[in-house]
Amino acid sequence: MFDKILIANRGEIACRVIKTAQKMGIKTVAVYSDADKTALHVQMADEAVHIGASPASESYLVMDKTIQACKETGAQAVHPGYGFLSERAEFCSRLADEGIAFIGPGTRAIEAMGDKITSKKIAAEAGVSTVPGHMDLISDAEHAVQIASEIGYPVMIKASAGGGGKGMRIAWNDDEAREGFARSKSEAASSFGDDRIFIEKFIVEPRHIEIQILGDGHGNVIHLAERECSIQRRNQKVIEEAPSPFLDAETRAAMGAQSIALAKAVDYQSAGTVEFIVDKDRNFYFLEMNTRLQVEHPVTELITGIDLVEQMIRVAAGEKLALSQDDVSITGWAIESRVYAEDPYRDFVPSIGRLTRYRPPVATVSDDKIVRNDTGVYEGAEISMFYDPMIAKLCTWAPSRLAAIDVMGDALDRFEMDGITDNINFLSALMEHPRWREGRLTTGFIAEEFPDGILPAVPDAAQLHDMAQIAAVLGHICEARKNQISGARFDGHLRHDDGMRVIRIAGQECRVGVDVKSGTFAVTLDDQTSKVETDWSPGDSVAEVQIDRKTIVVQVQTHASGLRLRHRGMDLKVDVMRPRVADLKRILPEKEEADLSNLLLCPMPGLVVSINVAEGDHVDAGQILAVVEAMKMENALRAEKSGVIKKINAAAGDSLAVDAVILEFE
Ligand code: ADP
Ligand code: ADP
Ligand code: MG
Repeated sequence: MFDKILIANRGEIACRVIKTAQKMGIKTVAVYSDADKTALHVQMADEAVHIGASPASESYLVMDKTIQACKETGAQAVHPGYGFLSERAEFCSRLADEGIAFIGPGTRAIEAMGDKITSKKIAAEAGVSTVPGHMDLISDAEHAVQIASEIGYPVMIKASAGGGGKGMRIAWNDDEAREGFARSKSEAASSFGDDRIFIEKFIVEPRHIEIQILGDGHGNVIHLAERECSIQRRNQKVIEEAPSPFLDAETRAAMGAQSIALAKAVDYQSAGTVEFIVDKDRNFYFLEMNTRLQVEHPVTELITGIDLVEQMIRVAAGEKLALSQDDVSITGWAIESRVYAEDPYRDFVPSIGRLTRYRPPVATVSDDKIVRNDTGVYEGAEISMFYDPMIAKLCTWAPSRLAAIDVMGDALDRFEMDGITDNINFLSALMEHPRWREGRLTTGFIAEEFPDGILPAVPDAAQLHDMAQIAAVLGHICEARKNQISGARFDGHLRHDDGMRVIRIAGQECRVGVDVKSGTFAVTLDDQTSKVETDWSPGDSVAEVQIDRKTIVVQVQTHASGLRLRHRGMDLKVDVMRPRVADLKRILPEKEEADLSNLLLCPMPGLVVSINVAEGDHVDAGQILAVVEAMKMENALRAEKSGVIKKINAAAGDSLAVDAVILEFE
């Protein structure tokens, strides 16, 4: 076994690998860029080597620097994590030349599977069912249109070198095929330095289900069942689970057998994933093989009890798999939520900044639930524009799917984060979504369920009832605190206080009576009195409240006139007032918000790729006005309504801040 390994990665996955190495008694070496000087993975490792400037192309992607770091520190093996150098065959063979082990598959497997076109051909030869399509390159936009109409719309236009959901577009007609080809090609060139494009049939109502496999250097390959990753945005996974609510034992066995056949065809060793797209009749088609540890591997670990990183390290050290297929069994259900620095309310644009607050839920392991949070950040850390916007992977396990979902909802409600925009509210809203709870999924779930974009969840009557009671109690606690501080007002106020409050919440008003009796509150609303308990005090940003023994966790911010409460995706501004104040407020006019509808604002910090209109142009709703690149994604900004362009304030090549005015309408 190795004495020391180097982790050629950053963020949560570097931390994840270090944890297992430490458990196995192996010393660890971290590498870091300028931006990551104080990163968590650097703090966790036994040693750390600086490898260059912040852009990945000058640090994490430079093979020489990583190899040099191995030599300097005496690391005998490299774990590449995911992304960066993990799927670069050249890296693997250069390490071999230096006598350093690669904790991953062999060069040949990476090469064969790294390219979507090549891997599809090999899969087809190994008897694996593949997506129908054109297995060769597309030369230009007109060729794309021709092939697309031969295959039959809808089609998926893809970068052969693609990954991470980038360089991929669906087309339903000739125009979209032309535009999609151009976008995919330019995105592929900038993200992968390889602009080869191919086209395959778009599988309608698809589910993304993938098989985890594990092979050794002695010809053994087993599979560790499936993960379903159908909840996606921008063709990228947001929520994953294992097992899949859709597979029966027969389909699972067939997918497992085909995955093993493909792995054997390329002498696969280490952990790897064979991704399939599954249609509504449970026909499954090979998409691609990821020759690395997958982001969502924890859900497999939670249902099988197998530490995949440990297995990878053992295989790389030459050990035989200690497990056979019969040793693998599935227990319970696991869910992963990817916590991203992004704004779900603005089409998931990435967000950057300092994490002024970062308090993930407490890790828990008991017989009926597990909460695990894989992270690479800490409070005070900076989320930079240089890398992936994923902050953490929150995983839960429970004996059943619904129980695991409820543990997740609760854990998300407890997750405190500030300083950047995050998707936690959206994730926790999803946990309440009936279709998700029923397991009726497709990769179009988010687009289908939120056709007009994502908005904070709207409370139902029962939730409103709970939130009004919580607001009344928290409001009461705030007031009691204020009165304690200014003792003089204490007397007068409380004496005339009958405990009655008017709560204004989600456009509705209700009257709630609060009566305190030895630390518990009797709260009356709609002629119904509940017993409410909480140990919340002003300043705490999370309140755990029991209403008649039911526990509800809410995130709380206090404002001059009221509270902001967040729970399961609801984001509620609540006014808590004495009845007399409420009467007065009703007479005051509401402040109007500024009208921004005649401006096109830059939705994220980014680089202008093109301005597609000119001053004086008449544009239709839906027409592309400009293309902005951020975090390696090209985003087409479209007109929300028709109009005439009055003024253009930006040009291609400009670097813009969020909310910069790109152009103005008449
Ligand atoms: P998974 O399939 O494990 O969920 P993703 O597809 O989400 O992984 O990608 C994981 C990370 O690796 C992302 O940060 C993505 O940008 C990066 N990545 C994946 N494939 C490639 C690739 N071929 N080239 C560069 N980066 C990649
Ligand atoms: P990446 O390398 O970026 O992970 P994949 O080929 O694995 O690319 O595709 C990513 C996602 O895009 C899939 O999970 C699925 O949602 C969608 N997708 C890809 N190809 C197809 C297809 N032919 N039909 C339907 N959906 C597809
Ligand atoms: Mg994929």
